[in-house]
Amino acid sequence: MNAVIPIQADIGCADAPVLRERGQREVFCGLTGIIWMHRKIQDAFFLVVGSRTCAHLIQSAAGVMIFAEPRFATAIIDERDLAGIADANEELDRVVRRLLERRPDIKMLFLVGSCPSEVIKLDLSRAASRLSQEFVNKVRILNYSGSGIETTFTQGEDACLASLVPQLPAVEKNAPTSLMIVGCLPDVVEDQFARHLKAMGVENVQFFPPRSSKNMPAIGENTRYLLAQPFLTDTARALEGRGAKYLPAPFPFGVEGTTEWLRVAATMFGVSAELFDKVTQPSRDRATRALERHKEKLQGKSIFFFPDSQLEIPLARFLARELGMKLTEVGTPYLHREHLKFELAMLPAGTSLSEGQDVEKQLDRCRAIQPDIVVCGLGLANPLEAEGINTKWAIELVFTPVHGYEQSADLAELFVRTFVRKAKLGLDKQRSILAKDLASEAACN
Ligand code: SF4
Repeated sequence: MNAVIPIQADIGCADAPVLRERGQREVFCGLTGIIWMHRKIQDAFFLVVGSRTCAHLIQSAAGVMIFAEPRFATAIIDERDLAGIADANEELDRVVRRLLERRPDIKMLFLVGSCPSEVIKLDLSRAASRLSQEFVNKVRILNYSGSGIETTFTQGEDACLASLVPQLPAVEKNAPTSLMIVGCLPDVVEDQFARHLKAMGVENVQFFPPRSSKNMPAIGENTRYLLAQPFLTDTARALEGRGAKYLPAPFPFGVEGTTEWLRVAATMFGVSAELFDKVTQPSRDRATRALERHKEKLQGKSIFFFPDSQLEIPLARFLARELGMKLTEVGTPYLHREHLKFELAMLPAGTSLSEGQDVEKQLDRCRAIQPDIVVCGLGLANPLEAEGINTKWAIELVFTPVHGYEQSADLAELFVRTFVRKAKLGLDKQRSILAKDLASEAACN
């Protein structure tokens, strides 16, 4: 049975031209995903096989976790490895043995490739299968690449989940149809979705990745999957290779996105329109009310997206349709037309879309537009702020729980805060000028 998509989207940007650029880019690498993934799969460990730069990236991004029981680390590739003097495979095996001796709680170990491990052509898939044999029945050892040569920052999660798909157990051929929700979600968001689906009578729901490596969801011909994140191209391909069928839907950001996303699942499982409305309406009303106060502050403001997380198009749709913001350019590192077809159709017609990056050219376009706010990576935020342009760090939108009804207002608030901060800074500046004037007046008297 195919889900019936009830979205009456206007044509929007479904057929809009896309500016494709392949130049210098300013985007985090896929290692960044470790920061949210290590919190999700709680008995997994991520061992980056990389340089001190890689170690600094994940340590500074994850800061506080370093002092708790860490679930990630870096096996440093040093000059001896790079010069080919030391056998990097032996070194890696030694590091893994020592780690697993010290940490018997680790049940799943990811060897994460980086730029340096690629440069010295260290074969991590062979290392993972070699070490898996050594630790058979104790630890599952997998590998994926988070290298900046191959991935942008959310693609690390995609690569990690794709590496997990072959590990999923198979379901029986005649098993009842099940729903798999795919993409790392904070536990609180996962619980909300599970509650809504249960209230509609959709019981056979699994989340991937799971909270524990012991609870991997089973997969087969009767699995239907809904993407919770728009950046899971390789994972989707791997799931289809195991027989699962994709349920096309918009993404669950904002009231509209969440409702249509849940509606696709409900339609699939034969939930009546009355029951669907009965379950979702109170949350829809509450979330719409909570958005109203943010709408007052955001309506009419213009926004420009630099490509970072692949969340740009769904977020732009939410900001335009539910908060009345004006979209100027919406850039994304990669545009998957099939996964984003409803999102594109829901974008206001005339929005400029771009894919990939040539950073200098894009900065010129942004300066010419002078938007009220820019969503970009950390590397571009400071220079743009120095030019008087408001910025929002793209990474904040990935780290913060922003999916679902209850989080819609929090998502809007992340943008409002930028304007509030700017207004406060302006006020502080005025106050300090006033204080200086008063002081010099007093000195003259
Ligand atoms: Fe830098 Fe590459 Fe390491 Fe990422 S993987 S921190 S881009 S060296």
